Amino acid sequence: MRLALFPGSFDPFTCGHLDILERALRIFDEIEVTVAVNSNKKTPIFSVEERCALIEASTVHLDRVGVAPFEGLIAEYARKRGALALIRGLRQTNDFEYEQPMALANRHIYSKLETVFFLPSSDFTFLSSSIVRDIFRWGGDISELVPQPVGDALQIKRING
Ligand code: ADP
Repeated sequence: MRLALFPGSFDPFTCGHLDILERALRIFDEIEVTVAVNSNKKTPIFSVEERCALIEASTVHLDRVGVAPFEGLIAEYARKRGALALIRGLRQTNDFEYEQPMALANRHIYSKLETVFFLPSSDFTFLSSSIVRDIFRWGGDISELVPQPVGDALQIKRING
């Protein structure tokens, strides 16, 4: 069984994340979306528990996907879980500059761990969680940028303040 982890902050989970996940599922048997607790992003919109619940709701149509919170070194966690690979997405070249040292550091920690990169649909190369957060904060329409459960949860946040 070829297990991969898809680690990230997912604050919030976007259509770009879903696109990467669906592509990776064609190659791996099972994928765990691993939601980072120790995100250095200061004011998250959603708690880790909320993010996990929203990813679960956004992936109900997919078999072979799990969701779990995680804190610590992802390479050690991958070793413990028996995962073959980490999945990451590349939008532009600057993503690669950020990702390459991280991938090599993770392989330094756990030599069997590969990082596998996927390119999203060209519709999503501009999309990031921070763009969604910015559009949302200024009252813009994010409905085409996030899966419906995430859009609904953002609307509720807007109403409740
Ligand atoms: P992190 O804080 O670990 O970068 P993110 O939730 O921002 O977590 O992103 C997780 C992964 O998903 C990263 O590899 C990121 O490059 C990728 N990703 C985010 N948005 C997109 C997108 N629109 N298309 C492709 N990959 C994406």
